[in-house]
Amino acid sequence: MLRRKSSYSSSGKSLGSGLSVMAMLIILAAAGAGAYFLMRDLSGPVVTLSLTGDRIGLVRTVEVGLDDKSGVKSVSVVVRRGAKSMDVLRQNFPGLEPRQKISFQLKETQLPEGSFELEVRAVDGSFAGFGKGNATTLTRKLILDSRPPRIAVRTGAPAIYRGGSALIVYTLSEDVSKSGVRLGELFFPGYRQANGSYACLFPFPVEMAVNEYRPEIMAQDLAGNVTSSRLLIHAGSRNYRADTLNIPESFLNFKADELAQLCPDMPAPLEQYLCANSRVRESNDKTLLAVAADPGNVTDHFLWSGRFQRLPRSAVKANFGDFRTYVDGNRQKIDEQRHMGLDLASVARADVPAAQSGRVIWVDYLGIHGQMILIDHGMGLMTQYSHLSEYLVKVGDMVKAGDIIAHTGTTGLAGGDHLHFGVLVGGVPVQPLEWLDPVWVRNNIISRLNILS
Ligand SMILES: [Zn+2]
Repeated sequence: MLRRKSSYSSSGKSLGSGLSVMAMLIILAAAGAGAYFLMRDLSGPVVTLSLTGDRIGLVRTVEVGLDDKSGVKSVSVVVRRGAKSMDVLRQNFPGLEPRQKISFQLKETQLPEGSFELEVRAVDGSFAGFGKGNATTLTRKLILDSRPPRIAVRTGAPAIYRGGSALIVYTLSEDVSKSGVRLGELFFPGYRQANGSYACLFPFPVEMAVNEYRPEIMAQDLAGNVTSSRLLIHAGSRNYRADTLNIPESFLNFKADELAQLCPDMPAPLEQYLCANSRVRESNDKTLLAVAADPGNVTDHFLWSGRFQRLPRSAVKANFGDFRTYVDGNRQKIDEQRHMGLDLASVARADVPAAQSGRVIWVDYLGIHGQMILIDHGMGLMTQYSHLSEYLVKVGDMVKAGDIIAHTGTTGLAGGDHLHFGVLVGGVPVQPLEWLDPVWVRNNIISRLNILS
């Protein structure tokens, strides 16, 4: 029985090796044929251009991508206008790499304004055509446009105060890919109105001094030409209160769990609190800027009209702009920060109305703000509701002014039940009292927005 099994298995083995030789031959033949077809490169390099639209400026850099399995041998870029042609670039690649990237500008061509033809010709390193290689020729009909857009500001120079907001309306001489107000690293886009003009809402960050505040207006056309100039404004200073905030042991004990979650790498509640108040606060500020910079979160027109509402029957516990010095139980200074909203206290777990009509874009915990809601009101204007105990809306909901969206609470860095109400312009916190004042809104926003209609 044992022998039989052994002989059976041995004959099985020899049958198996016979099969594998056959299989090997078939695989080799297939591979050979495949390799032959693969090696026979019949097409020229794939040429890609970083050009959208048909307009191009003299200083726009155009990236050219070249891909070919036999390697890229050479490329040329030529411009043609009528019977005249001119080389922009000729380059050989002796290394025959499968992928090359080059870039060019039309600065040196001295092409006049108007239409011309761009030709990019690339050759690969294959043996096709007795070693000449395969060529790809890409031609594009383009319009040279080296004139930057002209910007005409239609509203008078706005009065804007430190910590405040302003709106301008301007018209542009041509279509643009981008326009708005730039302030250092910050950018506040303008939004096209039904009548073709653009409206731009921008802030005067409270941390900036009047002599540092130099907003610029800019526009970039479809050909890449940029215009930028100082924006005429009447910038005014505004003083904010200084405040001392006591951080007693009892507060740290009350917040112990949340503080440990905000700064788990810190050893004790006081260190955790200081870390939350500086490091977490800084990261939360960046999140607000990032939320506002995401075009998906910004409606391109105002979603509201009429008065902004505040938490009803509430007392103001802290103002926007308060400069707070934090002291410990021994009255020793432990930190300082500026308060970026209006603290309003009513009864515990009070109904929170939406200040204005808009779209809910954030319903989530955010560091020092605790449970927070953000509402987009259009063109970069948002309201913020922090320290909530309960949410009554979800992201994407359209709300009307006065709709109850949440209940107040103590989540985040809040000692007692209150609503931290913030107004943001492009993610930058601004003075909510301006927006809560219907006269200010009418004179500084609505009447200016309607200047051309
Ligand atoms: Zn607050």
